[in-house]
Amino acid sequence: MKVHAIQTGFVRIKTAQVEGRGHGLSRRIAIFTDSNWTDWLPTYAWVIDCSDGIFVVDTGQGAHLLESGKSLHPYVRWEVAFRIEPEQEVGPQLRALGVGPRDVKRVILTHLHMDHDGGLAHFPDTEILVAPGELEIARGLAGRMRGYLPHRWPAWFDPVPLHLEAEQFGPFAQSRRLTAAGDVVAVATPGHTAHHISIVAQDGDTAYFLAGDTSYDERLMLAGKLDGVSADEQVCTATLDAIRRFTQSRPTVYLPTHDPQAAERLAKRQLAGAAS
Ligand SMILES: [Zn+2]
Repeated sequence: MKVHAIQTGFVRIKTAQVEGRGHGLSRRIAIFTDSNWTDWLPTYAWVIDCSDGIFVVDTGQGAHLLESGKSLHPYVRWEVAFRIEPEQEVGPQLRALGVGPRDVKRVILTHLHMDHDGGLAHFPDTEILVAPGELEIARGLAGRMRGYLPHRWPAWFDPVPLHLEAEQFGPFAQSRRLTAAGDVVAVATPGHTAHHISIVAQDGDTAYFLAGDTSYDERLMLAGKLDGVSADEQVCTATLDAIRRFTQSRPTVYLPTHDPQAAERLAKRQLAGAAS
C-alpha cells in the first residue's frame, strides 16, 4: 500500500473557525466577528494505492472556488478565500503521477464541503461514495443555504450511498470495510458535519488516518479542541476523543485535510503525538 498527498491549492479561513470560541450559537457567530485570518492552509486530496486498486479520498478544490467572493452566501462570500490554479486540481495532478481518470477505482468523500468536492468533475467514470446523510444535507436549495455548493456538482453526480454499519472498529461505533482485505475502512467521525466520515488505511503496522476536517491540525485533535463550525459540541468532543484513543492504540499517522504538517508527516511516517 502507498498513500500520496495531492495539494489542491490553498485556503484561508478565520482563526475562530479553526479553534472554536465560546459555546452554542456564539461559537458560530465568532467566525463572522473574528477579524483574524489564518495563514494560507493547504487543501489535500489523498490517493490510496491498495490491493483493490487506486482510491481517491476527497477531491480537493476546483478553480471555480476563486469566484467564492461573489457568492450571495455570507460565509462563502466573506469568511473563506481560496488560491488554486487549474493545473493544481486533482485531475491534472493525478495524470502527472501517471494515474488516468479511468485508473481510479473509487472516490470517497469525507463530506461535501466545497474544498472536498471541488474536483468531482475529474471523475465522470468512477464510483463515488458519499454518506447518505451528508448528501441529504448538502443537496438542493437547503444545501446552498447551509453553504454547500450543490449547483457546482457535475450534472452526472449521483454517488453510491456509503452506509456505515453498526460494526465497532477500535473506538468507532460505526464502520465499513472498503476492500476485500479490510485494510481500508470508513469510520463515522461526526462533528464538523453530522455525517462526516474518515478513512483508515492500514499499511502493515501503520494506520494512515485520513481525517477530513475532524480537526484542522493534529495539535487540536490531541488537545480535544473543537472547531468553530461543529453543530453539536458533545458529538464533536466524542469524535476527537475516539480519534485520540485510536492513535494511542496503534501507530497512526494523522492526516487532516488542512494541516500544514500533514504531507511532511506522511512522507516521514511520523506518528500522532511524536512532535509533542
Ligand atoms: Zn469541511
